[in-house]
Formats: sequence, structure tokens, C-alpha cells
Amino acid sequence: MDLTYINGQTRLLALLGHPAHHSISPKMHTQAAKLLGLDYVYLAFDIAPDEIGQAVMSLKLMEARGFNLTMPFKRTVIPYLDHLTKAAKLAGAVNTVINDNGILTGDTTDGYGYMESLRQTGFAPTNKVMTILGAGGAATAIIAQAALDGMKEIRIFKRKNQTFEDTLAFAEKVTGGTDCQVTVLDMADRQALATSIASSDLLTNATNVGMGDDDRSLVDKDMLRRDLVVSDIIYEPPLTPLLAMAKDLGCSYFNGADMLLYQGSASFKAWTGQDMPVKEIQRTCFS
Ligand code: NAP
Repeated sequence: MDLTYINGQTRLLALLGHPAHHSISPKMHTQAAKLLGLDYVYLAFDIAPDEIGQAVMSLKLMEARGFNLTMPFKRTVIPYLDHLTKAAKLAGAVNTVINDNGILTGDTTDGYGYMESLRQTGFAPTNKVMTILGAGGAATAIIAQAALDGMKEIRIFKRKNQTFEDTLAFAEKVTGGTDCQVTVLDMADRQALATSIASSDLLTNATNVGMGDDDRSLVDKDMLRRDLVVSDIIYEPPLTPLLAMAKDLGCSYFNGADMLLYQGSASFKAWTGQDMPVKEIQRTCFS
């Protein structure tokens, strides 16, 4: 490991999460900085959930240029920040903080990361209809950015549990703040799900279902059709059961690896002002 470029001027970038040490972000950002000859080093810190405020104040004190947030801090960090970008306000979540001489601005680049990975497939979001499964932190960031990027209609399917009302309020906020109509439907209503997918251009799984032990698809194969674009923001495994069905049917499909890459590239740009060399990072960190 070559650390000889670190010197007295090197500035800190960081990830705060719980857990945090599994993340690919330290490798991605430190390699990008090194490739461009920029004086930054990126480290991951596992922080206890009730110590997020102290962690943020410590990074500010140490003049870190910025930091990322992952679970469970995307919402709980907000009270410790000075400003939020439009996307972060709409999503109600922050994954990137920029420190400008002690003034902390919270942004969310998860939605940008997803939308950029979508654009890379040739899909233009303007006036399109999306069905999205899930309404968690990643889903809300995607929905907010998709609405800002000109999507005409977004239908959210989620379980009718204690967070259903919050999702209704979120949908109302996005509908009121953009030109996109956002509705929330019960995931258990299979007929509504089939009907929604049948009239959508894009289907996105933004739940945890399809990874780890929960190795299922929330939609049936007969709900898909060949000209539907199917995406899953899970990147491990690379081919979830949903994507395997899409592949069988000959649909255009993609997983969450590029979302991860492009959300990182947007954070990197916000901190350093430079474009991340994404092709090189894709080759060294994602293959
Ligand atoms: P989260 O905030 O915990 O949200 C999880 C969502 O999944 C919730 O809407 C939840 O539904 C839904 N869900 C969980 N189990 C379900 C089940 N059995 N049936 C139906 N819905 C279920 O998590 P998150 O941060 O949004 O992450 C979600 C997924 O995205 C994870 O797999 C994560 O690895 C991935 N992710 C990828 C990237 C990337 O860059 N590619 C970035 C962030 C996250 P309810 O709302 O009904 O409870």
C-alpha cells in the first residue's frame, strides 16, 4: 500500500456509518484522488448511532473537507448541518456533507447516482412513468431526483405498515414541489402492482428483497414485458431474481453497481471540484 503521498496538507474525507468498514467508498475516493494527484485521503468510521452529533462536530473541528453518511445516519445527521440542497430537502435525507470553512451543507447524491446509471443505458426520464418498490432512504432519494429530472409519474409500492402515512406525506411533498405526480400503493395489492407495471416505462426495486437470505422477487414474471426497463439497486448479488427474470424475457436491465459509482463521483466533484475518473475507478474498484 503506497501512502507516501500523504503529507501535512492532506485533507480528510470520511464515511460515517454503522456498520461502515465493509464500504467500497474509501478505496474508490482515495484511488480517484491519487489518480488525479489531489491531496485527500478517505477513511471509514463506525459510529454508535447516538454519537452522530459528536462525530460531525469532530470532523468539522479537524477541517475535514467533507464526508458521506450511510445507514443509519442519512436522516439523523440533518440537525447538525447548516444548509441542505434542494434534492436533500425533497428526499429528507443526506448522504454527502460539504464543509466550506466550517459551514456544513448536506446533499444527497444517491438519486443522482441512480439517474445517471439510468441515463447511461440510454433511458431519458422526461415524461416517463416509473413503478418503484420500497420507500426507504435509497428509494426516497431516487424518487426526489427522478421527479426533479422530469419523470411524469411515479408509483410507489410499499407495505402498509407504520411508515405508510410518512410515505404518503413524502409523495405529497414531491408532487407539490415538482411537475411529477407521485402516488403510494399497497404492495399487497397484486392487481394494482400488475396494472401499474403494465403502464410503466421503468420498474425499480429499491427494497432489500433479492439480497442475502431474502432471495426472492417481489414481482411475478408475468408482470414484466420485453420493452420494460427493469432495474434493481442491489449490486450484490449482481443478478437478483428480479433481474434474472428480466434477462430471461430479453428486457433491458441493470443493477445498483453504477448507482454506487455515480453517487460517489457526485460527492467527489462536490468536495474536490474535479471529475472522478469513472472508467478507471469502474475498472479498479468494481470488476
Ligand atoms: P431502508 O431505508 O431500510 O429501506 C428498505 C425498504 O425496503 C423499505 O421501503 C422497506 O419496506 C422495504 N422492504 C424491506 N423488506 C421488505 C419486504 N420483505 N417486503 C417488501 N418491502 C421490504 O434501506 P435503503 O437504504 O433504502 O436500502 C434499500 C436497498 O438498496 C438495500 O438493498 C441497499 O443495499 C440498496 N442500496 C443501494 C445503493 C447503491 O448505490 N446501489 C445505495 C443505497 C442502498 P417498508 O417501507 O414497507 O418497511
